[in-house]
Amino acid sequence: MPSTLFQKVWDLHAVRRLPNGQTQLYVGLHLVHEVTSPQAFDELNTRGWRVRAPERTFATIDHIVPTRSQIRPFADGMAETMTSALERNCREHGITLFDLASGAQGIVHVIGPELGLTQPGMTITCGDSHTSTHGAFGALAFGIGTSQVRDVLASQSLAMSPPKVRRIDVNGQLAPHVYAKDVVLTIIGRLGVKGGAGFAYEYAGSAIDRMSMDERMTICNMSIEGGARAGYVNPDETTFAYLRGRRFAPQGDAFERACQWWRGLASDKGAAWDDVVVLRAEDIAPTVTWGINPGQSVPVDSPLPDPAAARESDRAGMKEALEFMGLRAGALMTGTRIDVAFIGSCTNARLSDLREAARIVAGHRVAPHVRAMVVPGSQAVRAAAEREGLHEVFRDAGFDWRDAGCSMCLGMNPDKLQGREVCASSSNRNFKGRQGSPTGRTLLMSPAMVAAAAVAGEVVDVRGWTAGDAND
Ligand code: SF4
Repeated sequence: MPSTLFQKVWDLHAVRRLPNGQTQLYVGLHLVHEVTSPQAFDELNTRGWRVRAPERTFATIDHIVPTRSQIRPFADGMAETMTSALERNCREHGITLFDLASGAQGIVHVIGPELGLTQPGMTITCGDSHTSTHGAFGALAFGIGTSQVRDVLASQSLAMSPPKVRRIDVNGQLAPHVYAKDVVLTIIGRLGVKGGAGFAYEYAGSAIDRMSMDERMTICNMSIEGGARAGYVNPDETTFAYLRGRRFAPQGDAFERACQWWRGLASDKGAAWDDVVVLRAEDIAPTVTWGINPGQSVPVDSPLPDPAAARESDRAGMKEALEFMGLRAGALMTGTRIDVAFIGSCTNARLSDLREAARIVAGHRVAPHVRAMVVPGSQAVRAAAEREGLHEVFRDAGFDWRDAGCSMCLGMNPDKLQGREVCASSSNRNFKGRQGSPTGRTLLMSPAMVAAAAVAGEVVDVRGWTAGDAND
């Protein structure tokens, strides 16, 4: 029977059917960070349990780590306590920790792939919603809560019910200055933030096939924002080329054998998807959010929607969002003044993102009223960017060039919005308070759009825009 990658990988990892009808699923890779693990380790330690598979468990520090000065002890006592707890737990349980001295620290969803830990056909868990990122490699990757982190630490398995699978085909050619971020914001805008409930998303079609691994990771990363339990792309030659030679990937002949195996995991022609959605890449424009969830977005050249013309069930939420954001129906997002520009997060802080943003700002200056920062997704991304001189481009333009971490993606470290500041952000969530100020306002967009907004001092359409237009 032809089947989907989801079905194949699920079946390969199913240990048994549990009395409650769920499946006990073996976990091939468990990624751990400092925020959702302390309580889970405490529960193990209290019971005197050991971590079941420390060789399949890897940890890093990302959410609370300061990005301006990483000298220990951290100025923030809570950050220091959490970091120390993770160090102690990893030491006591024999888990590899990519700490600040490792050269491999970074956001958990950036370092897993770049170290070659993330591989096709794996089941992957992490106590973070955006674990779906790893699906870009043809893995089933699930974000889990703290009690499930405990379960996986203790048993290397997880109790789950299989979601349905929706294939989302994006066919055709993206226009210049239209990026993976615009694709995924468009998908979420069309299907809604709850549209993926009960589904895993399989991304396919010629536009996805042509994407780099970085771009596929951006798409899969935000699956969760569309309500999907996971998102994945079938593994192909692009996947294998990315993984070849990486530290934890199979080496030599073993790698060739692995590729052979991985190829066979891709969804079969004629597999039965539970739903299929098709988009034309040519219809996708640079996209920016105007509201307080990632589904409230518009093409940057289109007017904001009018709640009065919306479905009854959406009206109150749209009105609340417009009011909170200080925007009005019918207006354009272009020209919206920004206070902060943030290029970072596990969605868009990889080397290709920084290269594209640097290309936009090269030779120009950040607008005088804008606070702008670039936070690489990992120490490795930072080092690679510096080898190319990207840090000089950003610094010359007036950006802060920071150390790796989650930074202003969320308000758990010193990088926060102040008051009602408006932030052009390459991150993934624009919920009220997400960036550290209860009244701060987040506009999600591609790194290139953030870069252009930083220079212009306002939201601009990056297509056809040149920095000189704004700075002159
Ligand atoms: S960058 Fe943001 S979304 Fe990604 S792991 Fe960190 S806090 Fe979570």
